[in-house]
Amino acid sequence: MRWSKALIPTHKEDPSDAETTSHKLMIRAGLMRKLTSGVYSYLPLGWRTIRKVETIVREEMDHTGAQEIHMPVLSPAELWKETGRWDVYGAELWRVRDRNGRDFALGPTHEEVVTDIVRNEIRSYRELPFNLYQIQTKFRDEIRPRFGVVRAREFMMKDAYSFHRDEDSLDETYRIMCDAYSRIFDRCSLTYRPVEAATGAIGGSHSHEFMVLSDTGESEVIVCDCGYAATDERAEGKVAPMTSGEEPGEMKPVDTPGMKTIEEVSEFLGVEPWRLVKTIVYEVDGRPVAVLVRGDREINESKLAAALGSEVVEPASPEVIERTTGAPVGFAGPVGLDGIEIIADHSVEPMANIVVGGNRADVHMTNVCPGRDFEPNAYRDVVLVRRGDACPRCGGPLDSFRGIEVSQAFKLGTKYSESMNATFLDEDGTAKPLIMGCYGLGVTRTVAAIIEQHNDENGIAWPKAVAPYSVEILAVNVKSEDVRNLADWLYRELCDRRIDALYDDRNESPGVKFKDADLVGMPLRITVGDRGIKKGIVEARVRATGEESEVPIEGAPDRIAKIVETLP
Ligand code: ATP
Ligand code: MG
Repeated sequence: MRWSKALIPTHKEDPSDAETTSHKLMIRAGLMRKLTSGVYSYLPLGWRTIRKVETIVREEMDHTGAQEIHMPVLSPAELWKETGRWDVYGAELWRVRDRNGRDFALGPTHEEVVTDIVRNEIRSYRELPFNLYQIQTKFRDEIRPRFGVVRAREFMMKDAYSFHRDEDSLDETYRIMCDAYSRIFDRCSLTYRPVEAATGAIGGSHSHEFMVLSDTGESEVIVCDCGYAATDERAEGKVAPMTSGEEPGEMKPVDTPGMKTIEEVSEFLGVEPWRLVKTIVYEVDGRPVAVLVRGDREINESKLAAALGSEVVEPASPEVIERTTGAPVGFAGPVGLDGIEIIADHSVEPMANIVVGGNRADVHMTNVCPGRDFEPNAYRDVVLVRRGDACPRCGGPLDSFRGIEVSQAFKLGTKYSESMNATFLDEDGTAKPLIMGCYGLGVTRTVAAIIEQHNDENGIAWPKAVAPYSVEILAVNVKSEDVRNLADWLYRELCDRRIDALYDDRNESPGVKFKDADLVGMPLRITVGDRGIKKGIVEARVRATGEESEVPIEGAPDRIAKIVETLP
């Protein structure tokens, strides 16, 4: 491609709304443009990389024996009502209405649609197992779209769905898919780690996420030297108990005017944050539940949901909090909180003389003792594990790192087939629900993750397998006929060898062109200039390493082709 004819709008300045390197570089290198919050157009360079990632994904999926299909984005509400997800999915599900008043969803994922196809077509165990996948645009009305395509509202996903007769068969495909993911991310030159994950709104029994290591990642991964690795949502672990060793004191209310947060109350009363126990009111299946954790810890909502036997829990609205506690938000406490279920984390049980909300505006209670001044309905493990807690496997100290979740695999079991009545006839003649797995991979998020791991202060440094072009030919001064002729010839020769080359033939200053070359980041740059021509050479520079070499003009196309072959 001749740059003079290409749409590659590069920018010197970072976009004002971008927080992460990949987001900044995807805009600055002209890969994409924002249309509206969380919605992007992909320009030629961006689209070429997306297509290359797609090709890798497709090759590896096909290699596992999965079959590519293509399902509609639009699906009728009735399907989502069959599984209950019309309600459970909440505001993230993008809903639209047709001219006749019928409701539809723009697909955030396709379990319902694929199960509908399969229940109508599959009869016998002889047809099992099989795995269907697609690469498609997904819609999720994310509460906080950010980081460019990492958390978008419209994005591209590869989603696969496998159907089985029994658990063993599901286990086998699950393993095969996790292996395929490893090959995909290896080919994309990513440093990643598969970790145990919570199942969330998609459901099922068992799940892994593939995490790309990155400080900008939104996921916290808990790891141990013994090999244990899980997302913080999923991670188990032991929180070291904290007790002051004091004798129980007399419970007393204290005025805490306007002090709502742990930090405010802690400072005001001169009490360490861990001794302030938070009472958070949740709504669980329509009823309020008060949940207690130490002030220095957070609640793990996945664990809480599991402990309550519910699919999702949501923090209660201010109205519900006021109605159940009789106090404005910030002053809830367990003492005298009647008629509502109270769940306390295990770490609260051994404590004494804690501070809690007073269920009255501007009042907290001090010297509160669990068991004496209030009795929770149950003590459960509902705390978010973090670095320093004890590993659930070996007891050693847990560590953590931040990661970008690029893919997730779930063992769904019969969650969808039962609610949608998708059955097959087994060998013994009885109808059984299909056993399912599902496997999602964010294609556009993967592109951002690659940039997060492959960049420097000057721009992107693409790994060859996903680079928009493998080589950039940079003609230093196109006003020089010698330079133009040589660069034109090189470009044609590389194209004839089917090497994808970007040719910067623009009439711009060398400074601009070198800066742009580093910014857009093709793996190999070939510089054609008068000085080199006098010496009978062109200059080759590897973007990732900065390694430079001189290539004799005679035989240059073949030599360049060789260098390209050896590039990482
Ligand atoms: P997250 O926890 O980041 O919201 P998720 O668990 O909701 O992700 P899945 O439903 O498992 O994601 O979707 C499969 C894959 O699709 C994810 O691993 C991720 O790579 C990608 N993905 C999910 N949501 C988005 C989004 N809003 N923008 C871009 N990619 C996304
Ligand atoms: Mg999500």
